[in-house]
Amino acid sequence: MKVLVAVKRVVDYNVKIRVKPDKTGVDLANVKMSMNPFDEIGVEEAIRLKEAGKATEIVAVSIGPAQAQETIRTALAMGADRGILVKTDEEVQPLAVAKIFKALADAEKPGLFILGKQAIDDDSNQTGQMLAALLGWPQATFASKLVVGDGSASVTREVDGGLMTVEIKLPAVMTTDLRLNEPRYASLPNIMKAKKKPIDEKSPADLGVDIAPRLKVLKVEDPPKRQSGRKVKDVAELVQALRNEAGVI
Ligand code: AMP
Repeated sequence: MKVLVAVKRVVDYNVKIRVKPDKTGVDLANVKMSMNPFDEIGVEEAIRLKEAGKATEIVAVSIGPAQAQETIRTALAMGADRGILVKTDEEVQPLAVAKIFKALADAEKPGLFILGKQAIDDDSNQTGQMLAALLGWPQATFASKLVVGDGSASVTREVDGGLMTVEIKLPAVMTTDLRLNEPRYASLPNIMKAKKKPIDEKSPADLGVDIAPRLKVLKVEDPPKRQSGRKVKDVAELVQALRNEAGVI
């Protein structure tokens, strides 16, 4: 079974985000970019499937500028076999991403398409669901455990107040949650080997997908600043402040 894994290049999760002065978005100048953390989990899961003899080939796919090559290389260094970069400098919103991935799935015919549950830059949590709808495939979102069987898979999902296990027929779309696994670091020899692995390049137009945005961002704002704390002299003053000032008890 072939596995396609989506890997998005996003602002590194350790970076302190700065909103642009004109509030049109987040300042990306000189900011460290990395693979979306949920996508690292997706790559790790695909590698574990290959190590267990369930997957035969892992293809890492990304949509973005030329630098998204680096994100694909990271996936190749972890253990993916080859990459496909759909290159564009335009903003690509979830519906357009899903259309591009559908075109790649039609061409590559994977048994499983793994995405992250959300990209930590736009927090949309839409792409996997839209992709499954466009393909007409079953979907299992927020996966915390995957067991692949013969022509089907059992996926444990994190839902409010507990876990739900579903059985899905393959081919299917799965989105990863945090507890699915702990991604490995790429070893130095594997980083060297990854340099020789192939990355195919396409454009959205090659795939016949119109990526014109459907949503318009009106403004991006920082969350309200936290008020500074103050010291109280005893428990009585604390209780008084919680009751009369904060109104929480
Ligand atoms: P979102 O719906 O934007 O929160 O993204 C959910 C998941 O879709 C991400 O974790 C990625 O696996 C995938 N994805 C979204 N946009 C891209 C992109 N430009 N390139 C690669 N994967 C993407």
